[in-house]
Amino acid sequence: MEISLPEHFEEFADARRRGFLAVKELKESGQKICGTFCQYTPTEILRAAGLYEVGLCGKSAAPIKTAETRLPANLCPLIKASYGHALEDSCPYAYFSDIVVGETTCDGKKKMYELLGELKPMQVIHLPNLPDYDRSMEMWVTELREFAKGLEEKMGVEITEEKLNEAIEWSNKERRQAARIYELGRYDPPAITGSRMRDVMEGEQYIFNRKEKYEKLDAILNQCEADWHAGNAPFAPDPNRPRIIISGAGLGGVAGKTVEVLEELGGAVVCYEGCSGIVSRRRLIDEDRSRDPIVRIAEKYIEVPCAVVSPNNHRMEQVAATIEEWKADGVVSITLHSCNPFAIETENIRRVCEKCGVPLLHIETDFGTGDEGQIRTRLEAYLEMIRAKKEARNG
Ligand code: SF4
Ligand code: SF4
Repeated sequence: MEISLPEHFEEFADARRRGFLAVKELKESGQKICGTFCQYTPTEILRAAGLYEVGLCGKSAAPIKTAETRLPANLCPLIKASYGHALEDSCPYAYFSDIVVGETTCDGKKKMYELLGELKPMQVIHLPNLPDYDRSMEMWVTELREFAKGLEEKMGVEITEEKLNEAIEWSNKERRQAARIYELGRYDPPAITGSRMRDVMEGEQYIFNRKEKYEKLDAILNQCEADWHAGNAPFAPDPNRPRIIISGAGLGGVAGKTVEVLEELGGAVVCYEGCSGIVSRRRLIDEDRSRDPIVRIAEKYIEVPCAVVSPNNHRMEQVAATIEEWKADGVVSITLHSCNPFAIETENIRRVCEKCGVPLLHIETDFGTGDEGQIRTRLEAYLEMIRAKKEARNG
């Protein structure tokens, strides 16, 4: 496929806005929409139920005041924005959702879902908070079976093994492709900017024609690789450029003042760590059709690298491995105000970084603009420190 990279990137960057119309058309054509909030949502079960999934996670400050009429102000902005949108009916995706799926991740989210359930038909999946096969798998498999049964009843559909298998195989194909996006960051200089990676990963969830999306993304990836080999990487060669991994959750509403500024200041975001980062994309679902598909789905989702599970030793091993594989010089942990799981777990990530010999910067923020100047100053100092270290090392 002959492509123009900027034009295709724009399509993904702008997908959320363009998708408003697409979701309306889907509804008008009789399709059913399922709003989701979290990487724990077993997409394969939704797809096997014939649903189109769309991310509802709040990313803007606009509905927060409305949410605060019912929710405490000192709650994470993502939870408030998600609920505020539903309360105001200001998000077309929430508005058009036939059903909304939530998971009992952090306390704030799970209690908010009780209120959200008054506004939208909901199904909540209860998570084990121990990422341990022996002690949690039985409960988790039972929960996913209940979830599938509930969807069948609510949506009047039948979820067959064949449909689950097809959904698993297609979702795996998408995961392999998504991993390739992050793997472009392993090049030196990286073959894609971290901001573009984000645009694609954020935007892809609002493009509903899966086959077309897959083909367009494939063309983008091939083009990025070809451009790099032709000497047209998005970054000029610079052995001292800080290569940074972004860690954390809920980046959607804060990437502009963090990820984009970091790259504007001369750093390169080479990979993302966390529930929508590289490890989740590489972790495929077993495609052995002789095994129970629900068990195979459960095996994947119990390994989502999220701070809500405890202890999270596996995630720490993955952070270290990612630093090594991407040859990162630093990790920036971005967490949202009042997000205890990720803020506390940042201390564990700091210890991993120390062992790997790279500095960690922790930015705690929200969807407002008041801290933009302060974040920029901190990023500037952080990047300068890394650059000086690299210059001293590289001579
Ligand atoms: S960080 Fe955890 S709770 Fe948030 S979307 Fe990811 S998996 Fe879900
Ligand atoms: S960012 Fe933290 S507090 Fe907010 S929903 Fe996610 S896990 Fe919960």
